[in-house]
Amino acid sequence: MTAHHFFVEPADIDDRKLTIAGGEAHHAARVLRVRTGEAITAADDTGRVVDAIVTDVGGVVHAEVVKERFVDAPRPRITLFQALTKGEKVEDVVQKAAEIGVARVVPFVGARSIVRWDDGKRTKAVERWRSVARAAAKQSRSSRLLVVDEVADHVRRATDEPGPVFVLHEGDVAAPLRHVLPDDAPASLVLAVGPEGGFDDDEIEELARAGAEIVRLGPRILRTETAGLVAASIVSFVYGSLG
Ligand code: SAH
Repeated sequence: MTAHHFFVEPADIDDRKLTIAGGEAHHAARVLRVRTGEAITAADDTGRVVDAIVTDVGGVVHAEVVKERFVDAPRPRITLFQALTKGEKVEDVVQKAAEIGVARVVPFVGARSIVRWDDGKRTKAVERWRSVARAAAKQSRSSRLLVVDEVADHVRRATDEPGPVFVLHEGDVAAPLRHVLPDDAPASLVLAVGPEGGFDDDEIEELARAGAEIVRLGPRILRTETAGLVAASIVSFVYGSLG
């Protein structure tokens, strides 16, 4: 079995001592039941990853660092703008995106998004997605956590981000993704995915005017919760951070 993996603050790795506190310590001690002498790994979300041996299990878990390494962030850094959808789909997208190595998810209200949440519901959902992202990063032994932004009110926010913006669209105006990806990996890029009903013409026009590329993945219509993960996988494969 692969060693259990934890996220800590940078200050919690100090002079060969690793300290796991708070919710992570509870998870380690009560849920995973780690034992003294057990090999674990930990990351501090800066790229630093350590191998350690548990020396004490209590409200705080202590471990002795035996090896330290730095893992570069995947290039490009992928930000996924995901339209709000019905049910738990965004949660699934966040979980799988974290596994693949997507850096950030920005949930947004699409013109055709059916869900219209009030602030309280949004805040709750974002909290849940963040905890799903953390669990997924632990599960995939990631060096970094996926960032989940607050819900954006319009997809046009995507064009404020650095790097090229690829809007996934099943319509005729779209070019095949493989024709428009730059030869060399940009430092970061954005993928935007519409809700169940897709993007409307105004959204597509506005995004194109702001410089986004409207791209298609092929003739099949993918579900909203599938499209971003497929595109992120393709991009990661093309630039070598996956596969
Ligand atoms: N309006 C469509 C469904 C939209 S699919 C229908 O005919 O039912 C939901 C979202 O998934 C789209 O907004 C788009 O972002 C993405 N998507 C699905 N299939 C795609 C494809 N072949 N190429 C690019 N994006 C796709």
